[in-house]
Amino acid sequence: MRDNEQTLQDLAHTVGCIRQRHLLNTAAGTPESVPVRKETMRKKDCLVSMLASGSKGNCAYIRCGNTRILIDAGISCRRVETGLRRYGCTLADIDAVFLTHEHQDHVSGLRTLLKKSQMPVYTTRETWQAIGNAVVGHQNRFMPVMRRTQVGEMQIVPFAISHDAARPVGYSVYHEQVKVTLATDLGKITPAVLQAAAYSDIFILEANHDEQMVRNGAYPYYLQQRILGQLGHLSNRTAAAFLREVPNKGRMQVLLAHRSETNNTPSLALRTVRTILSQGGRAVGQDVILRLAGQHGAVRMEHPDFGQRQRTY
Ligand SMILES: [Zn+2]
Ligand SMILES: [Zn+2]
Repeated sequence: MRDNEQTLQDLAHTVGCIRQRHLLNTAAGTPESVPVRKETMRKKDCLVSMLASGSKGNCAYIRCGNTRILIDAGISCRRVETGLRRYGCTLADIDAVFLTHEHQDHVSGLRTLLKKSQMPVYTTRETWQAIGNAVVGHQNRFMPVMRRTQVGEMQIVPFAISHDAARPVGYSVYHEQVKVTLATDLGKITPAVLQAAAYSDIFILEANHDEQMVRNGAYPYYLQQRILGQLGHLSNRTAAAFLREVPNKGRMQVLLAHRSETNNTPSLALRTVRTILSQGGRAVGQDVILRLAGQHGAVRMEHPDFGQRQRTY
């Protein structure tokens, strides 16, 4: 654990230096007389909702300005539609779906989604091929994710994650000055994940399990090893140690996601993360706003007026 923590601190230091250099360069190259670009004055406006999160199904809805996307389609199309209705939209309003990887809890609703809508599917070529039957006959809907993809008012940037799938990715979504990042289904934190998470306004991060619950639980040994391994899932403790080190803008909203219903509990996930963050000097409720995503029921976060109308942890 100590080695992991040291690595995280080193990575955070590196990202901090890069950021500082960037700011210095920007400041040095900007004469005082240059007016602030109009775009920076416009209202930042993003909504993120996990329609479902966990090993039984995952689907995130993100709206920035007038652009709407889904990330993953691991619940039934009917549940997606029900989830969207609460935000006043339908499948026809969704500009695209982005997939992280081919596991069933991320693509089980895809086949119906493709039949009932015209939206393009962005993912890696390897993931598209690994999905198999569900996308047969829909080759024209596949859009390979680029280093940076523009969809309407959003720019979407994929990043590699360590997981036992063909070529899994997480995503950062940029809209004006706002950054939203989703990183679930990852066995370890890599420099790519840290880079993606740094300075996110809203960060959806996996807090899958408690290590002791996995080791003492009923899962067969091979499955325990898979979950705990470097291509498996992120524990509460690793997620917390990561959050403690990740550079932020002064405030980061964090949605703890992909929680196991067998090897974790809502209170344990929150308690572990809060304790480790507090020990690291992060003020939970101020620097870091924590919320829990779950298998049932949507959880919503907004930028910039977060924390005003909803319970925070
Ligand atoms: Zn998953
Ligand atoms: Zn997975």
